[in-house]
Amino acid sequence: MVLQDLGKRINAAVTDLTRAPTMSEKAFDGMIKEICNALMEADVNIRLVGTLRKAIKSKVKFGELAPHANKRRIIQQAVFEALVDIVNPHEKAWQPKKAKSNVIMFVGLQGAGKTTTCTKLAIYYKARGFKVCLVCADTFRAGAFDQLKQNATKAGIPYYGSLTQTNPVTVASDGVAKFKKERFEIIIVDTSGRHQQENALFAEMVEIQAAVQPQQTVMVLDASIGQAAEAQSRAFKETADFGAIIITKTDGAAAGGGAISAVAATHTPIIFIGTGEHQSDFESFKPESFVKRLLG
Ligand code: GDP
Repeated sequence: MVLQDLGKRINAAVTDLTRAPTMSEKAFDGMIKEICNALMEADVNIRLVGTLRKAIKSKVKFGELAPHANKRRIIQQAVFEALVDIVNPHEKAWQPKKAKSNVIMFVGLQGAGKTTTCTKLAIYYKARGFKVCLVCADTFRAGAFDQLKQNATKAGIPYYGSLTQTNPVTVASDGVAKFKKERFEIIIVDTSGRHQQENALFAEMVEIQAAVQPQQTVMVLDASIGQAAEAQSRAFKETADFGAIIITKTDGAAAGGGAISAVAATHTPIIFIGTGEHQSDFESFKPESFVKRLLG
């Protein structure tokens, strides 16, 4: 189910209830059930859906509503707040400091969208006056450096990588050291992924992290991976302790409910979302606006 369809179903459930001539508690429970079903079909984790169900019930307190209360508004507001709550980690995201070298390391599985997203983030900070650059420490995937080089060149962003050095830790350290010396403010390090979570990937991630000492580690998560997102993000969190999530491919066929569950599982903020393959397809993530847009 795509994100827009999830929004439409939630809206329809609320509207059906609030348009009914007599709004019974049974119908109210039915609405909550329909919202929960829609969320589960969109891969939102079942425990999270349970939390949302309780939150809506306790916010509305249907049995205690005054006869002339604006039930429609109260219910709409409660649904809105409960949805915002599940995508809000209640943690402030890290912010880079001007005139300092801020190292940002990307982690994630192969194909998640790391290389594409690195450049998008670099462009975002460049537009805000930071001196930005990119380091390609993905020596695993053939063509990764070429891809980063192409993206970086198109965006006019300096980059570092090697076609001959096969040790990603060396490439990452050399690149970061070079750009630190040149007083770059945002140094984004792209690392390699694997098709699955595996020990080799995690070992490499830990080594690179130790070598470049990033101020921020970002996990890139593909919105379309569904229920797998929760376990995957937990495993990465335990190993790399990332401080932010970027969800990619939110323009795709999946609702991204799994990604929403990942946030709840790791208490880590989503900072941006990828909305397409082009460099400009990138947006800041705000829980309120995300839910507002979801509900249309
Ligand atoms: P990496 O292996 O993690 O570095 O992944 P890549 O950056 O190479 O991306 C894998 C594929 O996903 C590429 O074809 C990208 O164009 C595509 N991609 C990345 N982000 C998005 C996005 O937000 N939307 C869409 N539709 N495609 C994306």
